[in-house]
Amino acid sequence: VPISNIRNFCIIAHIDHGKSTLADKLLQLTGTVHKREMKEQFLDNMDLERERGITIKLQAARMRYVLDGEPFCLNLIDTPGHVDFSYEVSRSLAACEGALLVVDASQGVEAQTLANVYLALENNLEIIPVLNKIDLPGAEPDRVCQEIEEIIGLDCSEAIRCSAKEGIGIAEILSAIIKKIPPPKDTARNPLRALIFDSYYDPYRGVIVYFRVIDGTIKKGDRIYFMASGTDHIADEIGVLSPNQLEVDELFAGEVGYLSASIKSVADARVGDTITHFGKQAESALPGYEEATPMVFCGLFPVDADQFPELRDALEKLQLNDAALKFEPETSSAMGFGFRCGFLGLLHMEIVQERLEREYDLTLITTAPSVVYRVHCANGEIVECSNPSSLPEPGKRRFIEEPFVKIEMLSPKEYIGPLMELGQERRGVFKEMNYITENRASIIYELPLAEMVGDFFDQLKSRSKGYASMEYSFVGYSESDLVKLDIQINGEPVEPLATIVHKDKAYAVGRALTQKLKELIPRQMFKVPIQACIGAKVIASESLSAIRKDVLAKCYGGDITRKKKLLRKQAEGKKRMKAIGRVEVPQEAFMAVLRLE
Ligand code: GDP
Ligand code: MG
Repeated sequence: VPISNIRNFCIIAHIDHGKSTLADKLLQLTGTVHKREMKEQFLDNMDLERERGITIKLQAARMRYVLDGEPFCLNLIDTPGHVDFSYEVSRSLAACEGALLVVDASQGVEAQTLANVYLALENNLEIIPVLNKIDLPGAEPDRVCQEIEEIIGLDCSEAIRCSAKEGIGIAEILSAIIKKIPPPKDTARNPLRALIFDSYYDPYRGVIVYFRVIDGTIKKGDRIYFMASGTDHIADEIGVLSPNQLEVDELFAGEVGYLSASIKSVADARVGDTITHFGKQAESALPGYEEATPMVFCGLFPVDADQFPELRDALEKLQLNDAALKFEPETSSAMGFGFRCGFLGLLHMEIVQERLEREYDLTLITTAPSVVYRVHCANGEIVECSNPSSLPEPGKRRFIEEPFVKIEMLSPKEYIGPLMELGQERRGVFKEMNYITENRASIIYELPLAEMVGDFFDQLKSRSKGYASMEYSFVGYSESDLVKLDIQINGEPVEPLATIVHKDKAYAVGRALTQKLKELIPRQMFKVPIQACIGAKVIASESLSAIRKDVLAKCYGGDITRKKKLLRKQAEGKKRMKAIGRVEVPQEAFMAVLRLE
């Protein structure tokens, strides 16, 4: 088709508002994917994603659609639905001219909707409002339209009402995409510039790069150059995504496709990088490229020390596919050999942990996540520290800075009080509050990232009965009065349990943590003291009395299957224990820091 008949778009939505369901329906109606070959939600094709119902990695699909006798080519670029991946979202938006803004008509605008809309506006996209789930009895499309107009300032007089589930309004959406979203600019004569919006590692073909040609043309066999990574390759194969890969010889400005070029790791083909021709380079790269900066770190240790080489292999393999994952070896007296790993955020961390266990069959102990502190030392040096156990001694440091984030919470007005309490408890500085509609408010706080790593999101949900949503963005580093809190079990310091806390919270945290550990650590044959200390000073202390643990004691009566079950449960529990001196400490203990009230 001519470039005037190409449309590149993405779908932005809050989680669960129906993005994947709608994408599936668009693929079906255009005959891109037929019903019988359709797995539930074609675009989310990683198992983990399907299970959790979230989109982690971007994918794209090309659709053919005939409107009034004229053929059109519609490229849908899917975006991940989580704030950890907002950079990836912004790059896929940059590959489009328009976006469908999907809002659940029974819910309304949520924090994530807003954040994505801002990203779309920054990229000058044409935004088409779509009210989904109108089949639900509780749907209030008129109210939600008004909300979108008030909050976002988007004209909703022509908003499309649809039910992705029932297949209502899908043709209207396709026709709006064609009529409202502008075609790409015809810049095929310019030097090549293509934007990488996704890449993944294929063990047989190397890295597969997904890109949008912004300027120029790219041909099979071209020698290409990646402007940010500074590497060059031969494009052995190029093609389009229909949504399965289909080889072509050439792609022009405005088109979306993939290439493979024997690239060894996704780190060499990073999202946001610009592809140009080697020797005939474009003058400047496309704007918006950023390096991935891990924000959250934790230690990963195999329960079975023999699995260390397997863990290293698995991390290396995952990294081929995940340029944001960082890791380096770490040795701890308590935990043995493992790795300190860096992640974009908590969800990213969970995904990596889960994949390591599921796909690589490893059993791991994870230490509580930590942020990166900046320690200003007495000798003038500034040391970045993501591991509480490697914090320079108090005498050697002048002060510590920690990362702060700005969070925006959207909530019905009745939960403003509880949410402000939450912000306050987490060392938040109140910034502003606005009523965005008569009944809903936006509350903005700045608070330390460390206070958000943990159960902040769960608390937000429980204190608002599930009605509030949130977004956060990094604002920068500032000084805080922080101390290192050590935990000793049976007189031995347990490095992986050490945390960095604000001085004013140290006593409360120490007390809560020792109590929690007392609950979590199984009783031993001897008495075990559990202490929290700052330096040499013990600030809280508990002790675990000696007992001989007999799980069968609870089983009066002769139910043999129940006994077996208990024994098996105990055996499973054992797998995730680490011996600290003579004491067996379960995985839950290492994460206890996270779930203190
Ligand atoms: P995503 O997180 O935005 O990708 O949302 P999904 O497409 O996974 O949808 C979330 C849930 O809403 C799923 O249980 C869908 O079946 C359901 N859903 C999606 N669209 C509709 C709709 O139009 N009507 C109804 N009743 N449910 C829908
Ligand atoms: Mg989805």
